[in-house]
Amino acid sequence: MLGVRSCATIAEAAGILSGDRQAVLLGGGTLVMRDVNEGRLTEGTLVRITDPAFRQMSTGGPRIELGAGVTMAQVLASRELAFLHPAARAIGGPAIRTMATVGGNLFAAAPYGDFTVALLALDAQVVLQAGYGTGRGVPLEEFLAGRDRGSVSGLVAGVQFSRPANQAEFHFRKISRVKPKGISVLSIAAHLPLQGGRAAQPRIAYGAMAPTPIRARGVERALEGKALDAAAIQAARQAALEGCRPATDAVASEWYRREVLPIHLGRLLAGEPR
Ligand SMILES: Cc1cc2nc3c(=O)[nH]c(=O)nc-3n(C[C@H](O)[C@H](O)[C@H](O)COP(=O)(O)OP(=O)(O)OC[C@H]3O[C@@H](n4cnc5c(N)ncnc54)[C@H](O)[C@@H]3O)c2cc1C
Repeated sequence: MLGVRSCATIAEAAGILSGDRQAVLLGGGTLVMRDVNEGRLTEGTLVRITDPAFRQMSTGGPRIELGAGVTMAQVLASRELAFLHPAARAIGGPAIRTMATVGGNLFAAAPYGDFTVALLALDAQVVLQAGYGTGRGVPLEEFLAGRDRGSVSGLVAGVQFSRPANQAEFHFRKISRVKPKGISVLSIAAHLPLQGGRAAQPRIAYGAMAPTPIRARGVERALEGKALDAAAIQAARQAALEGCRPATDAVASEWYRREVLPIHLGRLLAGEPR
């Protein structure tokens, strides 16, 4: 049988999750409730959090904090998070965005996870809470590597990241066959700070190019210290597929994803329309 527990605090929910292997956290439920409705999840406890801190955003300063229960609709309603609007708008249609949470997106299997791709290019920290007590910060890249290995446990309380000094230097693109609500063929997020006209510690992330969103380390190395001219973009395109392990699914084949990624990366870096 399936039950529901409502928890007034994040710590209470984390305690239940750490002590009960059949307990499942319910974020917005856009994926969990699909499993329930389609008969894949029939036993255990759905853990719901009513703690307002779970849905709180701190967006005014240089360091941004989003509770894991913050929805895509909340992100879209925040002017201070305008640089994240393209990523939040990429998640499903309006009804899904009203429910879908930042925390749930961190666990969504490829080709889902578009918002997480943006967070990865922002070098976000995940606040993980395992059992009662306080959370600890883990780099998102480490968290996703753990998810890939199946070794992530506990509750995500929120995410934290630095606001890009220049929001125009943050880019997000989702490539899909069906517009505007299609599932990703792939997505790309890029934070491209420039110093003296040259890339300084650029961060690029891909979605749907591996089982979890990944950083494009080869591209970052190719761009570091370079002006974003034709030669640098060509070098980035050549390094584009390093570390990629895309799947073949109903949306696109592995071959197609590998073929089109360098093209879309080149267009993003050149500031061309997709
Ligand atoms: C029609 C449709 C279209 C969609 N389109 C997109 C899309 O375009 N792009 C995209 O990225 N996704 C898409 N999704 C997938 C999904 O809606 C999003 O990924 C969403 O962000 C998931 O969040 P949620 O809160 O609904 O997750 P839930 O369904 O609540 O949870 C998903 C998983 O994460 C776990 N979880 C949730 N929150 C936490 C937490 N704080 N700590 C620990 N574990 C947690 C749950 O236990 C569960 O295992 C779509 C889904 C549907 C049904």
